[in-house]
Amino acid sequence: MNIILLGPPGAGKGTQAKMLVDERQMVQLSTGDMLRAARTSGTELGKTVAGVMDRGELVTDEIVIGLIEEQLTTTNSAGGFIFDGFPRTLAQADALGALLDKVGQSLDCVVEMRVDDEILVKRIAGRFTCGGCGEGYHDEFKMPSDPAKCDNCGSSDFKRRPDDNEDSLKTRLMAYYKDTSPLIGYYYAKNQLKSIDGLGEIADVKARLAQALV
Ligand code: AMP
Repeated sequence: MNIILLGPPGAGKGTQAKMLVDERQMVQLSTGDMLRAARTSGTELGKTVAGVMDRGELVTDEIVIGLIEEQLTTTNSAGGFIFDGFPRTLAQADALGALLDKVGQSLDCVVEMRVDDEILVKRIAGRFTCGGCGEGYHDEFKMPSDPAKCDNCGSSDFKRRPDDNEDSLKTRLMAYYKDTSPLIGYYYAKNQLKSIDGLGEIADVKARLAQALV
C-alpha cells in the first residue's frame, strides 16, 4: 500500500508515519528528513537548501522530485511507501504519479490530516527529537519519563529544529495554504482523498488513520 500523508506542518504526519513503519513494515519517505540529513552531512545540496529551509520556504520541485526518484528506484518496500511532506505542489504531485508508474506502482490513498492553526503553533513550539534514534517528543504532550534521557535509546542528545520558530512557521503555513492545499482538490477529484481529524491524542489519531486505510 502506497499512501500520502497530507497536512500542514505540525499536523502529526511524521509521528503517524513512524508508527506505520514500525507496525506495517512500510518505508517512510520524508523529503524534510532527507533534506535535513543532507544538511547534517554537509553536502552541496545541504548547503543549497539551508537558508530556504530555515526561512520556512519551499525548496525547488526539481530537488525534491530528484530525492524521491532516487529512493523509489533504489528501495524495496514490502509494506509500501508513506510519502510524508511530499508532494507539496501540484507539479510534485504530477511527478509522483509519473514516477510511481515508472516503477510499476500506484498510489492507494491520500490521507489529509486536519488540525486548527492555533494547535499547530502549540505543537510545533514544543517539539523536539532524540538525536540518537530520532524519537519525537513534546514539552507538553510527550515528555520522556526521565526528562534528560530518551525512553527509546537512552541518549541525552535532544534536538530542536531551527525552523520551528514563529517567523518560519508563519511562512511554512502560508506555503501550505498557497502551494500544498490545492492538492486536496487534486486528489479528491481523483477519488483518492480521505480526510481525518488530526486533533487529540496520538493514539486516537492513529486509530482514525487506521480506519481511513482499511
Ligand atoms: P518538513 O520536515 O516536511 O516540515 O520540511 C522541512 C522543510 O524542508 C520545509 O519547510 C521545506 O523548506 C523543505 N521541504 C521538505 N519537503 C519539501 C517538498 N516536498 N517541497 C519543497 N520543500 C520541501
